[in-house]
Amino acid sequence: MDFIDEKIEAYSLAHSQPESEILKKINRETNAKVLMPRMLSGHLQGNALTMLSKMIQPKQILEIGTYTGYSGICLAQGLQTGGKLYTIDINEELEKMVRGFIDEAGMNDKINYYIGNALSIIPTINQTFDIVFIDADKKNYANYYDLAFDKVRSGGYIIADNVLWSGKVLDPPEKMDAETKAIHEFNKKVNHDTRVENMLMPIRDGLMIVRKK
Ligand code: SAH
Ligand code: CA
Repeated sequence: MDFIDEKIEAYSLAHSQPESEILKKINRETNAKVLMPRMLSGHLQGNALTMLSKMIQPKQILEIGTYTGYSGICLAQGLQTGGKLYTIDINEELEKMVRGFIDEAGMNDKINYYIGNALSIIPTINQTFDIVFIDADKKNYANYYDLAFDKVRSGGYIIADNVLWSGKVLDPPEKMDAETKAIHEFNKKVNHDTRVENMLMPIRDGLMIVRKK
């Protein structure tokens, strides 16, 4: 399901900063060589992540779900000098490719890349974050939110991707599949959490933007 009219999206992209050479390359190679290339954030959402990151000017970012590195490289562009993005992915098959892309982006000193299950790795990263980007397996969104919450500074942000799940969140609850249900429950949980302010931004597949009070 495309939420934005195709021509409007094309016009918006044509009047936004173009995709950099390295992001174009990641996009191309992911589509040519990797399973499920639709998971890559892409130009529109990548631009949104870069712009949000530049507005927040984070010192430290946690990303859950690296995939081929596209969103991580977008987010890392907003880091303060000396800042770091910690990114986690369970798929070790992508490691070589991702390390190559990070190197080519000139971001070796900005990105700490962990291979493994985010559920066990997050508790081992003793850092404070200005942004947490949740984009791994959907059934664990609420767990990632809970695990990362205390590591987010007051005034920091948690951003979760795919919270509209191609529009399936509109299905009647009794007809929802397990992933849709998990995302819908996550959206409700965040919306009822009095410790935060939140807005669901309906770009691409939906970004939930959460600000910790
Ligand atoms: N953020 C990327 C896309 C991420 S796709 C982008 O926008 O370009 C989702 C990723 O989550 C996949 O690469 C998958 O391997 C990873 N993933 C799934 N379950 C995970 C887990 N338990 N721990 C860490 N990563 C996981
Ligand atoms: Ca995603």
